[in-house]
Amino acid sequence: MRADIIVIGGGASGLMAAYAAARRAADQGMALQVTVLEKMPRPGRKIMITGKGRCNFTNVKDWNEFSQHISSKASFVKSAFHNLTSRDVLDFFESFGMKTVVERGDRAFPASYHASDVVDTLVSACHSVGVKIETECEVSTLSRDNKGFSLSCTDGRSWNCRSLIIATGGLSYPGTGSTGDGYRWAGEMGIKVTPLFPSLTALVPAGYKADDGIISSFPHHIDRQSPLSGIGEALCGVQLKNVAVQLYIDTMEAGNEFGDVDFTDGGIEGPVGFRLSRKAVKALVNGSKVALSLDLKPGVPLADVTARVKELWTEVDKDPRSRGLREKEKCRILLGKLMPWDLIPGFTATNPDIITLERKGRQDTKVWINLPTIAKCLKDWKFDIAGLVGYERAVVTAGGVSTDEIIPKSMESRTVPGLYFCGEVMDVDSDTGGYNLQTAFSTGALAGRSAADALKDQSPAE
Ligand SMILES: Cc1cc2nc3c(=O)[nH]c(=O)nc-3n(C[C@H](O)[C@H](O)[C@H](O)COP(=O)(O)OP(=O)(O)OC[C@H]3O[C@@H](n4cnc5c(N)ncnc54)[C@H](O)[C@@H]3O)c2cc1C
Repeated sequence: MRADIIVIGGGASGLMAAYAAARRAADQGMALQVTVLEKMPRPGRKIMITGKGRCNFTNVKDWNEFSQHISSKASFVKSAFHNLTSRDVLDFFESFGMKTVVERGDRAFPASYHASDVVDTLVSACHSVGVKIETECEVSTLSRDNKGFSLSCTDGRSWNCRSLIIATGGLSYPGTGSTGDGYRWAGEMGIKVTPLFPSLTALVPAGYKADDGIISSFPHHIDRQSPLSGIGEALCGVQLKNVAVQLYIDTMEAGNEFGDVDFTDGGIEGPVGFRLSRKAVKALVNGSKVALSLDLKPGVPLADVTARVKELWTEVDKDPRSRGLREKEKCRILLGKLMPWDLIPGFTATNPDIITLERKGRQDTKVWINLPTIAKCLKDWKFDIAGLVGYERAVVTAGGVSTDEIIPKSMESRTVPGLYFCGEVMDVDSDTGGYNLQTAFSTGALAGRSAADALKDQSPAE
């Protein structure tokens, strides 16, 4: 089987690369066959689960702001972004009939909020310019000779092409087909791959899981499925709005974020948790100690919080309805005035020092409610981080094919002519908010266009 350009991987970057290559060829009057080889029964499986099934397919910030959200070398993405900006991506989908909406934070979605519309549009765009999409076609090995590339698939077929685009994605959510094959091939061709680690993932506090069940596949990897401890049960499901979170690496402050935090079956995640997870995971993997501190009263100094806690305690204590209540019950009422009710069990379980029991003889135990400690814990609720949820539920893979090995203006390998990379397989990853898909589209479009341009002056495939 033969094509002029083969794209391995029918995900976001691969479909865009194939479209861009075939579009460019058509615009230049070249008869090039562009074929996508996708191992899953349908293309775009990962796109289907993006944005909780709604697919936040881009972010329409301009480059200056957009680039702030790229965690790795942003300058590498600049040419690709300018070749296909986020506004261009919006126009691309609109031009193929998909209505779009832009929400808070410049995040763009299909107006239907169905990720399937994004996949369908990409597939129809590809078909409109003659791209062939071969599904259930898993490439297992590839090699290069002076005519181009030879590929073998697990179904026994083999393919030849003049130019090859590797768009196999990362390692996260392997059930979508992304199992990291591109890294292996890059390594086999002598192309450097930087260390890989899961990013945009849950951080698991110490004691959150029943047995801190670290499994060996990745350092500090804690299986999301492993059962929760009592503390985990108490916190799981709590969502906190507008909190400040500080990240500590080996007791030094290494980052801070403001926004929303979710406690889930994995641990601490949500927008703020995710934003801090990249640095945290990297530090854990390097053997550092990682901790998070939640400030539930950001913007209010500790002295004021302490005064407020004391004031509220006096109110609770004096309230006639408190008559006859035990101290612990009154403490719960006090905490209810300071935080959402569903947070109280988890807050109390993780901050046992807010209540002191003083034994006075056999029968008598005096209970002290430590008001300054409550205030301190509201401002500095510490979690030592035991581990992370791995690729099985991480949103992206950090690390990958080194950007030093790729020409940013074309996405072509510096050492293997005719070989291109795009999307998450490269050492490029970003925040949540549509940045990752935009990067996949931009780098895909540039790789496709460059691959077509490079074949312009060469004789067609036999
Ligand atoms: C749960 C979740 C939610 C997300 N939400 C968003 C969001 O809302 N917005 C956003 O911008 N980003 C989001 N992302 C990130 C985004 O989906 C990825 O960064 C993006 O899909 C990467 O595109 P890609 O083309 O590089 O790789 P993928 O989309 O992973 O595509 C790679 C393709 O290659 C195929 N493949 C792999 N190996 C082979 C092989 N040997 N032979 C043939 N085919 C192969 C795979 O089957 C797959 O289809 C989310 C990710 C996850 C996991």
